[in-house]
Amino acid sequence: MKNALFVIHNSPDTRASEFATLAALASAVASAGYTSDLLVLNTTGSASVTIKHGNVFRAVSAIAPESPVGDGAEFLVHAVGKAVADASMSLVVGLGTIANRNWAPQVAASLSAEYLTACEAIEAADGGLRVTAPVMGAMVQKSVSLGDRKAVLLYSGEALAPSSGTDVDAQVSSTAVEQGRARFIASEALPDTGGIPLRGASRVVSGGLGVGSADKWQVIEQFAAKVGAAVGASRAAVEMGWVPSSRQVGFSGQKVSPDVYVAVGISGAVHHLAGIGGAKKIIAINKDPEAGIFKVADIGIVGDYEQILSAAMRKL
Ligand SMILES: Cc1cc2nc3c(=O)[nH]c(=O)nc-3n(C[C@H](O)[C@H](O)[C@H](O)COP(=O)(O)OP(=O)(O)OC[C@H]3O[C@@H](n4cnc5c(N)ncnc54)[C@H](O)[C@@H]3O)c2cc1C
Repeated sequence: MKNALFVIHNSPDTRASEFATLAALASAVASAGYTSDLLVLNTTGSASVTIKHGNVFRAVSAIAPESPVGDGAEFLVHAVGKAVADASMSLVVGLGTIANRNWAPQVAASLSAEYLTACEAIEAADGGLRVTAPVMGAMVQKSVSLGDRKAVLLYSGEALAPSSGTDVDAQVSSTAVEQGRARFIASEALPDTGGIPLRGASRVVSGGLGVGSADKWQVIEQFAAKVGAAVGASRAAVEMGWVPSSRQVGFSGQKVSPDVYVAVGISGAVHHLAGIGGAKKIIAINKDPEAGIFKVADIGIVGDYEQILSAAMRKL
C-alpha cells in the first residue's frame, strides 16, 4: 500500500468545493492502491475546521503556525516534509493555487519526486496512477503513469465531488515554527473579488486585454452579474492588475467547463484556450474579425465590446 498526502490552505476564502475536490481525488488515488491523509494549514484562527467528505481520508490533521508565516510556503515545506517522512508518503497532492506553487516545487526537489503542475486528471489506470497535464506551453498534453515513482501534483482541473462521504470536524493544533526556518514572504496576489466561484460555474464571462483599463473592468463584472455568471480573465488582464489571479482562465490558471463561456476582448491564444476546452458553447466578442478566438467560438460577434455588452444589458 502506498501513502498519499493531500495538502490544503484553509483561509477565509477556501470553499467547500475545494475540500470536496481533494476528497474526490483521494477516492481516485484509493482505487490506485494509495491511502490518503489530509494536512490542513489553517489560517482562519478558528479552533476546528469542517472538512467536506473528510471521512474519505485515513487521517485529517489541521495545523496553525504559532506565529505569522506570510503565505505559509516556508512553513509548509517544513510541515509537508515532516508528514511525508513520518508516514513514508510517496505522493503529495494540492490544488493549483498560487500559494501551493510556492512550496510544492521545493517539496518535490527535496523528495527527488516528479513535479507536475496544472494537472487536469489524476486517475487510476494501468494498474496504478495516471496523471495528465499540459506541458510545453499547453502545446502538448503529457500523460504519466507514476508506477512506484514519488510525485508532487498540483490539480487545476474542474471541481469534483466524491459520490459519497461525510463531513469531518478536525481540531486545529498549534505548531511551533522552527527558529530561522519560517520567514515572511510578501504576497502580491489580490484577494478574490467574491461572487460566483470560477471552478464549477455553469456560466463564465471572461475579459481580456481588450477591456482596456481597470476602470472599464466593471463592465465585465456588471454583465457577469446580470447573466448570473462567474467572472474570468485572461492572463494579460490579470497581469495588468485589473482582476485577481484567482480568476485567471487557461494553461497557468483554472480550467473551466461551463455551459456557456463568453470571451470579451480576448484574442484566443493557445494558453487561454487550454482552459476552456470543456466549455459547451463559446461566445466571443472581439473587434478584430481575424482574432483566433473566432476559430473556436460557436457564436462570434465582431465589434467594440462596450457597445455590444451595453446593448445586451438593455435587452436583458
Ligand atoms: C507559459 C505561459 C502560460 C500562459 N498561461 C496563460 C493562461 O493561463 N491564461 C491566459 O489567458 N493566458 C496565458 N498566457 C498568455 C497568453 O499566451 C496570451 O498572452 C494571453 O492569453 C493574451 O491575453 P488577451 O487575449 O487578453 O490579450 P491580447 O492577446 O492582447 O488580446 C486582446 C484582444 O482584445 C481585442 N480588443 C481590443 N479592444 C477591443 C474592444 N474595444 N472590443 C473588443 N475587442 C477588443 C483585440 O482585438 C485582441 O484580440 C500564458 C503564456 C505563457 C507563455
